[in-house]
Amino acid sequence: MKISVVGSGYVGLVTGTCFAETGVTVTCVDIDQKKIANLKKGIIPIYEPGLDDLVKRNVEKGRLFFTTSLKDSLVDADVLFIAVGTPPDEDGSADLKYVLGVAKEVGMYLDHYMVVVTKSTVPVGTSHKVKKALQDELNKRGIIQQFDVASNPEFLKEGNAIEDFLKPDRIVCGVESEEAKIMLEKLYKPFVLNGHPILFMDIPSSELTKYAANAMLATKISFMNDIASLCELVGADVNWVRKGIGSDSRIGNKFIYPGAGYGGSCFPKDVKAIIRTSDEYGHSLKILKSVEEVNDKQKEVLFHKINKHFNGNLKGKKIAIWGLSFKPNTDDMREAPALVIIKMLLEAGATVRVYDPVAMQESVHRIGNIVEYATDAYDATIDADALLLVTEWSEFRMLNFPMLKKLMRGHVIVDGRNIYEPEEMKSNGFVYYCIGRKPNA
Ligand code: NAD
Repeated sequence: MKISVVGSGYVGLVTGTCFAETGVTVTCVDIDQKKIANLKKGIIPIYEPGLDDLVKRNVEKGRLFFTTSLKDSLVDADVLFIAVGTPPDEDGSADLKYVLGVAKEVGMYLDHYMVVVTKSTVPVGTSHKVKKALQDELNKRGIIQQFDVASNPEFLKEGNAIEDFLKPDRIVCGVESEEAKIMLEKLYKPFVLNGHPILFMDIPSSELTKYAANAMLATKISFMNDIASLCELVGADVNWVRKGIGSDSRIGNKFIYPGAGYGGSCFPKDVKAIIRTSDEYGHSLKILKSVEEVNDKQKEVLFHKINKHFNGNLKGKKIAIWGLSFKPNTDDMREAPALVIIKMLLEAGATVRVYDPVAMQESVHRIGNIVEYATDAYDATIDADALLLVTEWSEFRMLNFPMLKKLMRGHVIVDGRNIYEPEEMKSNGFVYYCIGRKPNA
């Protein structure tokens, strides 16, 4: 089979590379010329464990190609995936200009039967808009050309994207024709043979499944953060409460860790978009509106804890931050809690010195030199009055207490991910604040 994947970001590049790994010939397309020039040289634009090797291997095997020309990628393609961004519009709805732009361009050049699959996360009804945009271009050209549209939302997680794509919990496909179903069955056959189920359904159900999945996960996080706040007030320990509820198989123990709030390119925008869709249909998704509200507040929690410790006076204080990406194993800082915390600290008159194992360049690109950049985790703590752990990268888990004591001016740690133990902190002479557990202060 031969496929075209349009948009070579997190989703498109991983999708294309993983399909190539199964033996399919793949052309990855992007409008970003620099990105494509770099990919041709073997330079991967994102940090994703294992992706470099997989790209290299499939390029060498002659199964993976990169181009800026969507037209060239169409030659003999059986399936085209649209994997471009769908950022939030001003009103929170998904901005479909990139998706529909691709559909239009496909219509300008299509000259054989193909299945056009939307992999981007899009609101219900988008696949039909894709169909119309493509058909309008065919009509303008005055040609009759059969094609099908389908929906195939992606569930991969940044930081574990290869594994998630190659070993998915399920593959969701929305189709409206037998031909499209057969084509997608053929493409995903290696995955199904490896025991990963494929669920065929109608297109609207497939489109909504993606939003419902992300909304449910965001709900679990906000629920647990809300319970953590209550734990602090009543003197309970959220770690025990989490274990206590997680061992109930109806609840499960995944995604019930409290923290500094959810971020990233998906949960915030997808929760907004499903709320917006629902509002359009006159149905208010009250639960998700609260999920959003709780999350916005949660992103400020670390700031409030350290601000309270210094009695509301952070002016002139030096604060070290560990972790900038919205979660470990990615350099993605979109909607990261660190951005909110840094802004609040700077507004309160503190100076901020940061360290992240991979997101430093991304941070320079996003916020420039409003913070100081450290060369490693301990360098960030030099003369710091307090250390804020925002992202739970593995390298932060084991602390060198003597070194921290020597380097830091104040011995205060605010742990936004509950990765340290209050007792251990106390015995090493640190004032320690965490989420939903008693501080040792
Ligand atoms: P991204 O911003 O990393 O990549 C999008 C790419 O599309 C960019 O490289 C951009 O240059 C390119 N592009 C835009 N218009 C184009 C055009 N007309 N032709 C060719 N290329 C074009 O985005 P992403 O994180 O990969 O997300 C893509 C979609 O997948 C979104 O809808 C997102 O919600 C969804 N999604 C993302 C994740 C994730 O973890 N990032 C997971 C599941 C689903």
